[in-house]
Amino acid sequence: MAGKRSGNTLHGTSVFFLCIVFFFCALNTAAAERVIDFQGAGRSAVKAQQRVQGKADVMPAPPSSQEIRVGLLLGQKHVLVSSDTGFSLVENASGKVLMTIAPHTAVEIESGKMGLLWNGEPLTGASFRLVPQDPACVFQIGEGHYRGSFLLRVQGESFDVIEQVALDDYVNGVLAEEMPASWHLEALKAQAVAARTYALRSKAHHRSDGYDVCTTTHCQVYGGVDSETAATRTAVQTTAGQILTYAGEPAETLFHSDSGGMTESREALWGDGVPYLVPVEDEVQKTSPWQTSFAEADFLKKLAVAGKDVGALQKIELSPLVIGKSDAYRTPSGRVSRMVIHGSNRAATLTGSDMRSIFGLKSTLFDVRREKGEIVFAGFGSGHGLGMSQHGAERLAASMKYDAILAHYYPGTTLEVLP
Ligand SMILES: [Zn+2]
Repeated sequence: MAGKRSGNTLHGTSVFFLCIVFFFCALNTAAAERVIDFQGAGRSAVKAQQRVQGKADVMPAPPSSQEIRVGLLLGQKHVLVSSDTGFSLVENASGKVLMTIAPHTAVEIESGKMGLLWNGEPLTGASFRLVPQDPACVFQIGEGHYRGSFLLRVQGESFDVIEQVALDDYVNGVLAEEMPASWHLEALKAQAVAARTYALRSKAHHRSDGYDVCTTTHCQVYGGVDSETAATRTAVQTTAGQILTYAGEPAETLFHSDSGGMTESREALWGDGVPYLVPVEDEVQKTSPWQTSFAEADFLKKLAVAGKDVGALQKIELSPLVIGKSDAYRTPSGRVSRMVIHGSNRAATLTGSDMRSIFGLKSTLFDVRREKGEIVFAGFGSGHGLGMSQHGAERLAASMKYDAILAHYYPGTTLEVLP
């Protein structure tokens, strides 16, 4: 079916990759991993203007008309604002332009008991907009630089600054926060599409807050213009407006740092699956192995603090790790689904996620052993393992285009261009 992609078409290429050994230092990309709230997320239908499936070098679309509202600065008492091309101060309810501010002129905005103070003068109204005179205008808001327009919203005795920005400008401000800008362009392009799609899915996260996304790992880390580099701009521009869809809706483009050999099934991890978040093979080489150990007493203490006091340790019940092999203790990718710790008082059953959280493990793709009075965890990968592996994407980018990388990690999704 046109527009649908099959992971099978990549099989031959994957085999080629399995023959290549890569060594990576584990990068700290913990920010990439997140758990999203699905209540109402991403339900809006997407109209495809242009199918780009299977063609990595399509002509970039003009910037999408989509915008996103970012909760930029919340609960502020004092913010300095300036711009490079000038802007207007507009009273939001009436749309009346109160004043225009020349380029490179700083304005001091403060919260007062009766509302906002503008260079020390009180403003009448509960919300205002800062509207650029030129769409390419860059504002300095506090310490950072941002595009778009801004809503100033009085909240009690403080105020919020909410940025309304073109979706692709937002993706520009996210990309280098989520993946090193020095990585291969095709990996950055894959990440740009994943980030753009994820942003659309995230739009319901902060509906009750009056904006779409926050600037932290809860949504995606966003640094505005200061985060952009020439490489991230190229990655965003050459994939302008492109998102992944499934059944006509933005796909849930979760991503993580490193799969360690195989990605995870959403159903196995969260009990509720989607057809494109299923285990796919990465490098057969066990990438980014990690090991961490705890003195037995510390191990038991951490368990007790988590409400799993088993008494003196007797044995740890868990099957050995084989990547891609499931059993009563492991998911289809080989990650720990459950394990049992037997003690003198009781036996405690814990999920892999429980263990990861209690012991701060990089992933749930691990083995555990008792050795010389210590409990040793030895595992692979970093993150929850769902969707795209960023280290995997970087490896594949050496000889694969971004759309093929996306097809590998999100099989059955369609690459489309937003209207
Ligand atoms: Zn958020």
